Amino acid sequence: MKTKKLGINSICVHTGEIEDQQYKGAVSPIYVSTSFAFDDIDEKRYPRYYNTPNQQELSKKIAALEHTDSAMIFSSGMAAISHSMMAFLKTGDHVILQQVIYGGTFNFVVKEFEKFGIEYTFTDSSKVDDFKNLIQKNTKIIYIETPSNPLLGITDLKGIADLAKENGIMTMIDNTFASPINQNPYDFGIDIVAHSATKYMGGHSDISAGAVAASNDHIEQIWSTAINYGGNLSDYTVWLLERSLKTLNLRVKEQTRVAQLIAEHLENHNDIDRVYYPGLKSHEDYELAKKQMKGFGAMLSFELKSHIDPMEFQRNLEFIKPSMSLAGLESTTVSPAQTTHALLSEEERLDRGIKNGLIRFSTGIEEPEDLIEDIERAIHKTK
Ligand SMILES: *Cc1c(COP(=O)(O)O)cnc(C)c1O
Repeated sequence: MKTKKLGINSICVHTGEIEDQQYKGAVSPIYVSTSFAFDDIDEKRYPRYYNTPNQQELSKKIAALEHTDSAMIFSSGMAAISHSMMAFLKTGDHVILQQVIYGGTFNFVVKEFEKFGIEYTFTDSSKVDDFKNLIQKNTKIIYIETPSNPLLGITDLKGIADLAKENGIMTMIDNTFASPINQNPYDFGIDIVAHSATKYMGGHSDISAGAVAASNDHIEQIWSTAINYGGNLSDYTVWLLERSLKTLNLRVKEQTRVAQLIAEHLENHNDIDRVYYPGLKSHEDYELAKKQMKGFGAMLSFELKSHIDPMEFQRNLEFIKPSMSLAGLESTTVSPAQTTHALLSEEERLDRGIKNGLIRFSTGIEEPEDLIEDIERAIHKTK
């Protein structure tokens, strides 16, 4: 099938589907075998080789969604990120990482790199010049995340890709927050695109998975390391991920539409200091986001004024649930100062722009008027 020519919903539904030749069923059969006929040493099929029929075919859908030649599926976002980094790094290499990245990735770098003598530096901001100033002779990878968590900062994809290419450095992005529906970093020259498929790709808050999309050469190198680490996804879950991806565009488009309406409603609210959403003209990187994103995403954050207790506000919500995770069909909130960033001192938090009243909001597919009513009711009750 010529995937590049298909429209987005057709890719979601059809690319990489497995034809049920025996019974002519409408959906891909699951091949659960861990043992396949051994015909040829180069064709060894085995789950940890990431090449069972379901893994192999679904990878094509992910590559088509990210406009790359190739892709791989993993058991979690962290498996995708860690296996991919370790595929390219060796003792003495240096990595530049964006200041604000996912907590799990931060822990991986800080706890594991030292054991292997891999150097790393975090930037002070997401500005391209900040990355430029940190480049060393041994810099191997520049690692970014945009939009970032929890303040939805935007990093210049083309700026970073150009800077890296001029200096012979690889680039890697965590594209989880945008999803392939709202952003395709490979089109801007970013080499490796990683996802926690536990989030938008899975989309129903019921599977753990990860993915990486890149050129054939890069995927081949990631594969040759990944078979040693063994972070492959069970074919049962690969099949669920295929089912989820069929509605990826429908879900994310709607979640993005609702997020814009919520952000606009909260922007001029008397009980809210500030809203962070790249789709608002007041966002400092609105123009950049418009240039590199196809949609502004379904994540936003807002700061409750100090007379509203953020934990009580969340308890007073009726159907919007507090949750550390994100990207499901159901809207969820988290208050970073009291949860994800609670171990930092208030000063360290403020340094990162995380105020006490900050609420991160993951927009689901509920009607915007119902969400707004729930938020308004909770604000009123908490005051
Ligand atoms: C959840 C998440 C991850 C990690 O994914 P897991 O599937 O939990 O391993 C990485 N990056 C971002 C931005 C995430 O939200």
